[in-house]
Amino acid sequence: MAELRHPPGTFDVMPAESGPWQSVVTTFAGVVASAGYGLILTPTFEDIGVFQRIGESTDVVRKEMYDFLDKGQRHVALRPEQTASVVRAFIQHRPTTPWKAWYAGSQFRFERPQAGRYREFHQVGIEAFGSADPDLDVEVVALGWEFYRAMGIHRMELLVNSLGDAACRPSYRQLLVDYLNSRHDELCDEHRDRIADNPLRVLDCKRPECRSVTASAPRQVDHLCADCAAHFARVTEGLAALSIPFTMQPTLVRGLDYYTRTTFEYAGTALESAQNALGGGGRYDGLVAAMGGPDTPAVGFALGVERILLALTAEAVTPRPVALLDAFVVDFSGGAAARDLTARLRAAGLRVDRSFDARSPKAQFKAADRSGARLALIVGPDEAAAGTVALKDLQNVGEQVSVPSELVVGEVTRRLI
Ligand code: AMP
Repeated sequence: MAELRHPPGTFDVMPAESGPWQSVVTTFAGVVASAGYGLILTPTFEDIGVFQRIGESTDVVRKEMYDFLDKGQRHVALRPEQTASVVRAFIQHRPTTPWKAWYAGSQFRFERPQAGRYREFHQVGIEAFGSADPDLDVEVVALGWEFYRAMGIHRMELLVNSLGDAACRPSYRQLLVDYLNSRHDELCDEHRDRIADNPLRVLDCKRPECRSVTASAPRQVDHLCADCAAHFARVTEGLAALSIPFTMQPTLVRGLDYYTRTTFEYAGTALESAQNALGGGGRYDGLVAAMGGPDTPAVGFALGVERILLALTAEAVTPRPVALLDAFVVDFSGGAAARDLTARLRAAGLRVDRSFDARSPKAQFKAADRSGARLALIVGPDEAAAGTVALKDLQNVGEQVSVPSELVVGEVTRRLI
């Protein structure tokens, strides 16, 4: 039989490697909880309509969605991103605003797998509903910045732009279409015929042909209405006030169509440019209404977990390793001591493991060493008869000491401090 392997574009994170993953989520949870964001869980799949509202012309919806008919003939899709699901939940449950939520979870996109680009990947993100205040944009951008710093990422650039709103985007869009049409022949194969379809996406194209055309394209920031200009000025002023350095990037449009006004991206400067987008987001004041909810402004971001780990490696930052175990019980007196001691230590909140199958002392000591535990707790026939446990530090060489069995929990706790 052929060897079973994970599907292309997916991966396993084995227990020995999962420490940094856990630290991403716990660090993120700590940072965003400090600003009042609460955890939200939504289904991994939704009715396809939820995601189609993201924008029929985005690649994520047009080409990359894992959609299928389920056994009840419902057309569903695995989520390609989570903002649409959070908006759907907001509309369904109508929490009072302002409403702030954070999430962590898998997303699915049928992309060509490559370094830093997967078919199932993970994002952490926040969404804040119910306020159009530009200071909220600043809060959101600052939380992402603070989180990367807390993870130890320093080689990073914050790119910001404003995409205008329903008042000023349409006229800018027309200006852009006219300009792109005038240089139609110079664009790359993919975008030459998509100008009318989604002209903003041409600005996002990284191919040199498109880049040389878009370098002198009209810029939305130069064509903002008075309200959008004031909003954007307050955002940049707020970032400066918080000493968060940023670069204006007039071609930053992001891949999803629902953004209005502020858009931003965190770029990892230690990474190759093909996967240097660590995360990004923006305001999406029209999405809740477009999905059938009450007119509600909102802003948020999504950060790629795999990209964070790539950036940490590229910057040679090792997140503090998470020791999996405090103690390992080695029992060659029959097994009852291992059973009882393990239960007692675990009940006291300690992380403890043991061997099974009455293995030889040698095999058990080897397992204890391999487990990465700080301490070995040893019970041979002598200790069993005397009601003691021998305690050995596996990380620092030292004397083995004998402790009365009833004092083991206290002694282990004292040594771990
Ligand atoms: P988006 O939802 O497209 O705005 O993406 C937000 C972030 O998710 C990006 O900046 C990346 O860090 C990450 N990301 C997007 N697509 C992928 C993918 N296929 N594989 C890994 N990370 C991804």
